[in-house]
Amino acid sequence: MKNSDSSRRRFLKTLALGSAAVSLSTLARCCATSAKPNILIIFADDLGFGDLGVFGHPTIATPNLDRMAAEGQKWTSFYAAASVCTPSRAGLMTGRLPVRSGMCSDKKRVLFPDSAGGLPQSEITIAEAVRQVGYKTACIGKWHLGHLPPYLPTNNGFDYYFGIPYSNDMDQIRRLSREEHTHPKVENYNVPLMRNEEIIERPADQNTITKRYTEETIKFIRENKDHPWFIYLAHSMVHIPLFASEKFRGKSPRGIFGDTVAEIDDGVGRILETLKSLHLDKNTMIVFTSDNGPWLPFREHGGSAGLLRDGKGTTWEGGMREPTIFYWPGKIKPMVVAGIGSTLDLFTTIAALTGAKVPIDRIMDSMDLGPTLFEGKPSPRDVMFYYRGQQLFAVRKGAYKAHFVTMTAYQKDNNRREHDPPLLFNLNHDPSEKYEISARHPEVIEEIRQIVKEHELNLIRGEDQLAKRINGD
Ligand code: MG
Repeated sequence: MKNSDSSRRRFLKTLALGSAAVSLSTLARCCATSAKPNILIIFADDLGFGDLGVFGHPTIATPNLDRMAAEGQKWTSFYAAASVCTPSRAGLMTGRLPVRSGMCSDKKRVLFPDSAGGLPQSEITIAEAVRQVGYKTACIGKWHLGHLPPYLPTNNGFDYYFGIPYSNDMDQIRRLSREEHTHPKVENYNVPLMRNEEIIERPADQNTITKRYTEETIKFIRENKDHPWFIYLAHSMVHIPLFASEKFRGKSPRGIFGDTVAEIDDGVGRILETLKSLHLDKNTMIVFTSDNGPWLPFREHGGSAGLLRDGKGTTWEGGMREPTIFYWPGKIKPMVVAGIGSTLDLFTTIAALTGAKVPIDRIMDSMDLGPTLFEGKPSPRDVMFYYRGQQLFAVRKGAYKAHFVTMTAYQKDNNRREHDPPLLFNLNHDPSEKYEISARHPEVIEEIRQIVKEHELNLIRGEDQLAKRINGD
């Protein structure tokens, strides 16, 4: 029964997938290359815009990522799909704003161990799309798109899964204090570590988890070196509680936060070496970014958004603008890109490179960044929507960003503020969102209002997946 259900689902998804993504220049690139490129997405958790050496951190050393940025593209206006884990990941996986899939909510910000929902089966993931064109697929790391069997990576297009199904601070043995979160013990978090659909360790030994994610990635690359592969490596770090293995603990001048970033960077270096030794380096595109901004209430245990305002949980720039690097030696045109990009765009960009199809039966929010990556052309994305839960709080159009609603990340008192006219900032002049200029630019506000109107005209909100609870409401 389960098998026939899943083959019917697969058949329906095949029908939903339309033509291959269409940039002529990308098509030319695809056909000129004999082997399909491998794709590796490295997704950090809660890493801020200012937390890498190459993005300006004075005491965090990230030599491998810095080199990738120098030899590839460093994107300085690249956005996660949301400012917290679950909706952000849903956006990356589907190329659709999370409000369309129902993977965001005004009741719960993310999925929890007692959540009954997850990424709906009707959604098509990038893993499903590339698997249809012959890719071997692995999800290694934190999933957070539903921990019940129908929602796990192995039911969402991944041949292999190794990781934790939700955040590393969940399943607390009791309600832990801030002090306990910042001086953490592995045994206080009863988070399961899974291989495919089986729990293999509980609590997951978080001291060695970053290292093991790297090792699993390298193993998957070696085992599949003769096939095209797609790996989504979603590190659990640097989400608190922070853990690093012995080799890194106590080494960074930035403290434990710096240790965890250094261990991720070291893993990147080991993966690069592996690709080189297998002669796959010239045929592999690597994207590095993060799911949302720094978790500021944890003070020095959270990261830094650098010059951007605020952090995780907000629709200020620090909540969603991420340090992003694209790397593919000999293919990507080395440069710094200030144009707008988003994790939402990875679906169509990867589909164009792999020959995978982009769904034609639904609205996609995903653009092919190929012309920027490979030819240095301006980014095709000019608009970014900033949702909090199911509500549109802000919109960026070109240099300008209008905030219709603002709210601090986690305070319990009612600090929601509506703005009419919206607060307006010029992000090119003022990336820190300090100088409000709405009075000087009514025409920009009018243009952005029109964009919102058109966006909402054909917006169908997905059924709220985050509010569903096991045995409950
Ligand atoms: Mg996160």
